[in-house]
Amino acid sequence: MIPKAFDYCRPKTLPEAISLLQQHGDAAKILSGGQSLIPMMKMRLAQPEYLIDINQIGGLDYIREEEGYLKIGALTREADLEASDLIRSKYPLILDTAFLIADPQVRNLATVGGNLAHGDPANDHPATMLALNAEVIATGPDGQRGITINEFFVSLFTTALQPNEILSEIRIPIPPAGSSGAYFKLERKVGDFATVGVAAQVTVDAKGTCQQAGIGLTNVGGTPIKATKAEEFLRGKALDASNISQAASLAADVAHPSSDLRGPAEYKISMVRELTKRALTKALNRASQAH
Ligand SMILES: Cc1cc2nc3c(=O)[nH]c(=O)nc-3n(C[C@H](O)[C@H](O)[C@H](O)COP(=O)(O)OP(=O)(O)OC[C@H]3O[C@@H](n4cnc5c(N)ncnc54)[C@H](O)[C@@H]3O)c2cc1C
Repeated sequence: MIPKAFDYCRPKTLPEAISLLQQHGDAAKILSGGQSLIPMMKMRLAQPEYLIDINQIGGLDYIREEEGYLKIGALTREADLEASDLIRSKYPLILDTAFLIADPQVRNLATVGGNLAHGDPANDHPATMLALNAEVIATGPDGQRGITINEFFVSLFTTALQPNEILSEIRIPIPPAGSSGAYFKLERKVGDFATVGVAAQVTVDAKGTCQQAGIGLTNVGGTPIKATKAEEFLRGKALDASNISQAASLAADVAHPSSDLRGPAEYKISMVRELTKRALTKALNRASQAH
């Protein structure tokens, strides 16, 4: 289908983009990679009157460690994550996730900022960012504010961003030594959205005791889900098969998927249990090598 007619603006600076957002309010939408917005416009599920294309704004695509954080600029493409030496060497959870999103063509355009700002529980980065305890930086007319990832996903396709704010950066606390992660995704075919996805990040000491765990779930509820009880259960315990299995059951307890073409709810809940076991086990193996 063809989208409804719209006006198109291409600001060169963030303040200019924010001022356009203020001017046009709910009638405007930010355009980043367009990999979710354009299909929705073609299906007329989104009908913005103004598209504010932020691709010409410089300085919004970077991946760097600074001030204790891994900082990812909102316009960083999935393909940039895959190609980054920093991500490849220190952030396997992010690398796993980027690699499992869609296909190379989509990943050349799709941005990390857009993946989060879209607020789609089927997208993969939200679970990863929940596991990594990220913070989202929103820039608006009054400057920047930080939103913890726990507070960011409000409901289906709705985030804590205000209509006059742009997601400008994602900050992830740099994990200590002995940390690693993994992302597992069940999909009907390569490039599909997740039937179920699980992101796990752990920090273990030299004896294999879990110092910290992060677990995020994809596409098993109206928002991406942080499996907080499972995370708390693991803290201070050995990451052995029995504890991993109990944590996986606690993660499955908070999943509330719908039955649909990707499978019945019961099947998806069992897959959360299974993928949590696999993600924690792989994260542990990787973390043990990171000492
Ligand atoms: C064939 C196909 C397969 C896909 N498979 C997957 C998949 O497996 N996993 C997955 O996670 N995703 C998948 N997607 C969805 C898509 O890749 C992601 O949602 C994408 O990362 C969105 O980023 P974008 O830059 O393209 O956002 P856009 O489409 O430009 O924007 C998406 C939404 O976020 C808003 N927005 C964008 N950037 C900002 C910002 N900086 N600040 C505020 N608001 C903003 C826009 O206004 C819009 O509402 C797929 C898409 C396609 C077309």
